[in-house]
Amino acid sequence: MDVAADDAFDEQCDYLFKAVLIGDSGVGKTNLISRFAKDEFRLDSKPTIGVEFAYRNIKVIDKLIKTQIWDTAGQERFRAITSSYYRGALGAMLVYDITKRATFVNVRKWLRELREFGGDDMVVVLVGNKSDLAQSREVEKEEGKGYAETERLCFMETSALQNQNVEEAFLEMITKIHDIISHKSL
Ligand code: GDP
Repeated sequence: MDVAADDAFDEQCDYLFKAVLIGDSGVGKTNLISRFAKDEFRLDSKPTIGVEFAYRNIKVIDKLIKTQIWDTAGQERFRAITSSYYRGALGAMLVYDITKRATFVNVRKWLRELREFGGDDMVVVLVGNKSDLAQSREVEKEEGKGYAETERLCFMETSALQNQNVEEAFLEMITKIHDIISHKSL
């Protein structure tokens, strides 16, 4: 999509959402985002804070929604994610790797950060990625689901590799944000 076409969409679209991906390095964030954004995948970078983002346009009921999804571009490795990454985000996908328990343990830390910088109203989907690697599983599905229920998060296991549940996870987040916004504007 070129810039002119993109601007035209901005004028037509009813909502523009910002959503962020977060979680330990190597859990599959970049693969999830590129799966979801598909042919509309456009990696722009914001060099000042070293993040990248992609867009996806979706129709929910009768509203045209443009979602701008931010990826850490590996900056989490250097603990370089700052409050500006989260600012203005209405949704977050908090990702761990079901084959690496440490990435699930760290979900608590990422959630704390999300709530500190993004506020309590943010829609958060907890995602256990790499579900195709069942033989190496270190985190049971029930455990992820149980934690999500305790923290009132949505939950899904995905495989970016096999394209399982990726669309569903993003759509869950976007639909929830849409619900919240349309209730607020009533
Ligand atoms: P990020 O650091 O969180 O952005 O993670 P990446 O998207 O770069 O993925 C890290 C590694 O995990 C890469 O080698 C990917 O090919 C691999 N990977 C990502 N998602 C999956 C998945 O669903 N299944 C499997 N088996 N590997 C995956």
